[in-house]
Amino acid sequence: METKYIFVTGGVVSSLGKGIISSSLARLLLSRGYKVTIQKFDPYINIDPGTLNPYEHGECYVTVDGHEADLDLGHYERFTNTPTTRANNVTTGRIYQSVIDKERRGDYLGKTVQIIPHITDEIKRNVKMLGNTGKFDFVITEIGGTVGDIESTPYLEAVRQLRWELGKNSLCVHLTYVPYLKAAKELKTKPTQHSVKLLQQVGIQPDVLVLRTEKDIPIGMRRKVAQFCNVEPDAVIQSIDAPTIYQVPLLMHEQHLDEIVLRKMDITPEGEPDLTAWNAFLHKLSTASEEVNIGLVGKYVQLQDAYKSINESLSQAAVHCGRKLNLTYVNSEKLSEDNAGEHLKDLDGVVIAPGFGQRGIEGKFHAIKWTREHDVPTFGICLGMQCMVIEFARNVLCLEEANSTEMDTKTPHNVIDLMEEQKSISNMGGTMRLGAYECELKPDSRVAEAYGSTRVSERHRHRFEFNGEYRDRFDQGGMRCVGTNPETGLVEVVEIPEKRWFIGTQYHPEYQSTVLHPNPLFISFIKAAVAYREDRK
Ligand code: GLN
Repeated sequence: METKYIFVTGGVVSSLGKGIISSSLARLLLSRGYKVTIQKFDPYINIDPGTLNPYEHGECYVTVDGHEADLDLGHYERFTNTPTTRANNVTTGRIYQSVIDKERRGDYLGKTVQIIPHITDEIKRNVKMLGNTGKFDFVITEIGGTVGDIESTPYLEAVRQLRWELGKNSLCVHLTYVPYLKAAKELKTKPTQHSVKLLQQVGIQPDVLVLRTEKDIPIGMRRKVAQFCNVEPDAVIQSIDAPTIYQVPLLMHEQHLDEIVLRKMDITPEGEPDLTAWNAFLHKLSTASEEVNIGLVGKYVQLQDAYKSINESLSQAAVHCGRKLNLTYVNSEKLSEDNAGEHLKDLDGVVIAPGFGQRGIEGKFHAIKWTREHDVPTFGICLGMQCMVIEFARNVLCLEEANSTEMDTKTPHNVIDLMEEQKSISNMGGTMRLGAYECELKPDSRVAEAYGSTRVSERHRHRFEFNGEYRDRFDQGGMRCVGTNPETGLVEVVEIPEKRWFIGTQYHPEYQSTVLHPNPLFISFIKAAVAYREDRK
């Protein structure tokens, strides 16, 4: 079958959940047996989100091939269970960089380089790149930003051209917002009408409208929207707030979104999507009544999106274990030696978050000391693992001023140090150790038991590493280096075997945890937390 292209645009306001709608549609098409991928176009000038503060756009996600990507790619993977790559996330910066490189090479043969056609052609080339691999029946392209933004204009022009070129092999789903005015007790569709007008002005007629709403939109009102917007009545769908984002595929299917999309692209839908495994997950999610209390110690407590993939991985693993996740954010900046116990004592398990820089770091050490001494299941991820190593060096190996050279360049015990290959790097963008690497696990380790394997591949994003010179001292002192990179010998996993569950990973297992396949290490951690909870009862 020829590759079909579905564009997802958004109007009225941002943060409507285009990523969730794209992912849900992908889930439905996948469950019908189609091969589907989702890509995101971000209208900002940064080459990638790698240099962005999490306060700007939330967590930075990492693909297998080492691309620092928008967090929506995490949703795509969690919903579709399919890895994404660099080609799945493109920014305006990347588009311009590539056009400017071509101009410098002389590829444009003396022509004046312009937004139309050169930038739009580059956008179109990127839209079709995944489709041209022949691997996918559907490529869903999410256009970041909101219709009417100056920044999105070249993308919309590219979509307009592609729709014209691709005809029935393309389709536009437009997501808008229907606000409820409490004082008037009314839902309002005018913003939707305006947003569709804006799209029409740039030459795009949406085929499907998805209306985000907090209240049920009556059929009559949906018909009115259809009439005003030149969209068929059954193709006006509501997306009402759901208790979990993982229910959205079902809500979309109830309104036949998948069938409507297929029909509009001249495909006769056959049978029903097979959502057995998906439904089993949702059933477990909604019926789990016993809780598991997990604390996440980090510095971005005001911003849940900063640790999006960790939250999702914990919740998937909890569901897998038949538990309801009760997640508490613990602000590492507020933790001291004296109050750490107060903050952590009711928790069944503690995650020490990844991160960069000095802020909040001492609090992480206090938290680790407390959970280590009280034998609470503890999971350190990336910087969290590095903090476990530093805390152990200071308080167990008596290397008093041990540190990472990220925090203290003059530390006498650089148990965490800048990686050799990083020493000559001065550019910040895309220069960390990124993407999936193999890791060999000691057969008798808890981490190997968790994975049920001695060889795993997980994704990385860091510049600093465990300093191999200290390896023997740690091993002898009781913190074992149980996971190493088979080619470079870099230490990737440490654990304290005598504790209930005390594991730190230099890699980020949260980037490889999906609804259908929760990451085994998170499952093992939650199991340990549940066991600890039962013990204390
Ligand atoms: N700042 C640490 C490093 O660069 C850890 C990075 C992280 O937690 N992602 O090595």
